[in-house]
Amino acid sequence: MDSSPPSCLVTRAGALERLATEDFDVLVVGGGITGAGVALDAATRGLRVAIVDRGDWASGTSSKSSKLVHGGLRYLQQKEYRLVYENLRERQRLLRNAPHLVRVMPFLIPLFAKQGIVTRTVAKGYSTALTIYDITGGWRIGKFHKRVSVEETVAHMGGLSSRKVAAGFIYFDAQADDARLTLAIIRTAMEHGAVAVNYCGVRSFESNASGRICAAQLDNGSAVRARCVVNAAGVWAAQLAGLTGTPSFEIRPAKGCHITVPFAKVRADIAAVLPVRSDRRSIFVVPAYDTVGAPTDKPSHLYVGTTDTEYDGPLDDVRCTTADVKYLLDAMNEWIEEPLLPADVVATWAGLRPLLSDATSVRTADLSRRHRVVCDPSGLISILGGKLTTYRAMAQDTVDEVVRTLGIRARCRTRSLRLYGAGEGSCVVGVSETMHVHLQSRYGSEATAVEELIRADPTLGEALVVGLAYVRAEALYAVRSEQARTLDDVLARRTRCLLLDLDATANVAHEVAALIAPELGWSEEDTARELVAFDTIIERERTATIPGEST
Ligand code: FAD
Repeated sequence: MDSSPPSCLVTRAGALERLATEDFDVLVVGGGITGAGVALDAATRGLRVAIVDRGDWASGTSSKSSKLVHGGLRYLQQKEYRLVYENLRERQRLLRNAPHLVRVMPFLIPLFAKQGIVTRTVAKGYSTALTIYDITGGWRIGKFHKRVSVEETVAHMGGLSSRKVAAGFIYFDAQADDARLTLAIIRTAMEHGAVAVNYCGVRSFESNASGRICAAQLDNGSAVRARCVVNAAGVWAAQLAGLTGTPSFEIRPAKGCHITVPFAKVRADIAAVLPVRSDRRSIFVVPAYDTVGAPTDKPSHLYVGTTDTEYDGPLDDVRCTTADVKYLLDAMNEWIEEPLLPADVVATWAGLRPLLSDATSVRTADLSRRHRVVCDPSGLISILGGKLTTYRAMAQDTVDEVVRTLGIRARCRTRSLRLYGAGEGSCVVGVSETMHVHLQSRYGSEATAVEELIRADPTLGEALVVGLAYVRAEALYAVRSEQARTLDDVLARRTRCLLLDLDATANVAHEVAALIAPELGWSEEDTARELVAFDTIIERERTATIPGEST
């Protein structure tokens, strides 16, 4: 028997060795979309870059978003025209640079009315807002908004109560798998020389004689030497900055929850925006990514979100509560014919927006989604706030500050940089066209590598979780080539099974563990420990869907 360690462990050991022995220009702390973007921007400017995360890539907020790459129609209400313009410009860049991960998504805005009549003021209000959206940059997608009839509105969202609908509008934005996008950015940064290690936290900093940070101590006991450190720790940014003194900024976390329901319950074939009666907000209903290409050509699931509430609980244990589920179900049930029940909710997820505090906003929903770069006297550069959509622009602003600090000149090169996997891979012989389309939409040109696994062992083409489009080869690829190290990495982020169907995913945990254990060098005890850890995650998520618990 071959006694050499699995290849993924060799690669990790090599990366850890480089972290401990090389001198870096920049160490990025935090491997969400923001940190990943900073690492890529810095690496493509020719800097020596290291990036670490104490958990998995995107395990913080960046796997728990609404997965929209959008201008943010509602920011127009807040007169944030510049923000919308910038968001839409970045949306377009993402569509071009990561066509395998970001797709155009039509959005329906049903207009509801009393006695079948929608007031002219409401219709005019939406029409004006959407025209401004088009002018601000919506047009870049190649389509303008349009008004649609009651019949067309209901055809796109079959569950709507047609008595309440008076008309509708359709406009266009985009959707992306947030966790896979983050991973693609990390892999692109690695292609450009960055050293990237997950499950590797920073616990303290070392300073030189003039009080500036020159190294970071890692959880594993080793140190990374870097001329400059970027704090991209999202909602934990103040904690990280606190390691060097009192932070000069305050993060105001806002919790956002989503619920997943089977397609058959709502029958929306495009995304929709619904008003929430109880407050001045709206929610999105979105066909879940990765479910097209499953048994039917309709998505198998939809997700609904999001809530937006002030959060002062533990940052490491944010949960969707039964109260959050009730808010979303009540909001939906206002407009649909057959009410959704708690039992219809098959999965939930919750995340924290890393919003920057300001003195004036009472509600977190009113806080700006702009970003800010803050430099401490210790030399720590923090990138705060922002959105998934604008990660590239955030990274550009941050690395501009980094190069200023380092006293060098290096231009940003990411505006038209294609991300890892952008491009078409040809379908491997023996793999079906449907499978190829599914894999292409998740891996781009890398789909070929997953298909080769299936060609070598056709059982790897079988479903990973019953009823979902993912296949077993994806789990194998995740641990071999995508730095997945736990069941949660495989089932919640490399694939999104856990976000789509909690029970079905829980049911296959043992099988998936058996599949990946040899790759990760797990002993029987390791595997048992992993299963217990995953079970804890499952049980925590379940609390939201059991009525009466954790409100
Ligand atoms: P995170 O993703 O949280 O990353 C921070 C990382 O830092 C974590 O992985 C953490 O493990 C790591 N870390 C912390 N401390 C340490 C340490 N000491 N050492 C090492 N690592 C450390 N934006 C959009 O554009 N579109 C949307 O549709 C959208 N929807 C959203 C819906 C919700 C419910 C929420 C909450 C946000 C949404 N956003 C959306 C916003 C977007 O998701 C966030 O702005 C973005 O993901 C934040 O990324 P980040 O990298 O800054 O933070």
